Amino acid sequence: MSGRLAVIGLGPGDARWLTPEAEAALAAADALYGYGPYLDRVPARPGQARHTSDNREEGERAAAALRHAANGAAVAMVSGGDPGVFAMAAAVCAAIEAGPAAWRQLDLVVVPGITAMLAVAARVGAPLGHDFCALSLSDNLKPWQVIEKRLDAAAGAGFVIALYNPVSRARPWQLGAAFDRLARHLPAATPVVFGRAVGRADEHVEVTTLGAAGVVAAELAADMATLVIVGSPETRAVARDGRTPLVYTPRASAGVSA
Ligand code: SAH
Repeated sequence: MSGRLAVIGLGPGDARWLTPEAEAALAAADALYGYGPYLDRVPARPGQARHTSDNREEGERAAAALRHAANGAAVAMVSGGDPGVFAMAAAVCAAIEAGPAAWRQLDLVVVPGITAMLAVAARVGAPLGHDFCALSLSDNLKPWQVIEKRLDAAAGAGFVIALYNPVSRARPWQLGAAFDRLARHLPAATPVVFGRAVGRADEHVEVTTLGAAGVVAAELAADMATLVIVGSPETRAVARDGRTPLVYTPRASAGVSA
């Protein structure tokens, strides 16, 4: 079978964060699939078809791209950030597992990208300098009780926590509830970083504390373009005159967890 599907990470938004491999894979595609705002970031190329879809139709979008590739085309599916982090690569793998046997013979390439937590972390120093984990706060794809259990486990074990999908119109209370949950394990002074639209024209980065994080989230109108990093008990915020504090987690741990 000659079809090919490349699942491509575009990075968080800055064109300089698109890898040369991703650029080449985009240029080689006969057809592009993806959520509208991501496709909008890819310059139009003559002769390249575009199939824009709604963000909630991941399974159908993956199947459509696979059917197209199975017809012999070079198809590219685009994702923001890295395609393997809360994004399309897993949906494509699930569609291949559930789909016709022929799809397993397709040439599938996953092209990595810079994921949002790395871009946000880089803006403030090195909050992910020691052990960390990433959680999606969206309870569309898992029960809220599972999220609470993971927040308890991660904070209790001393991980720095990157929170993806913190707030949406349909999920207004989850971020505040997550901060309350984390406050059971972590001091109020724990550094918290908000990064909104990092790498785009309207980027905004704010450093605060867990004690103030609920209020700051409301002031900033934290939304689906925001990523939140909650420090561990060892994460430091170093004040700098006229600059955002430098936030880092030391490379060595004294072995204390919350
Ligand atoms: N695959 C993406 C994540 C998809 S989930 C990646 O690897 O980055 C979508 C979430 O990613 C958003 O709700 C937000 O939490 C985060 N995100 C994506 N782009 C971002 C950006 N430019 N700035 C801050 N957060 C971003």
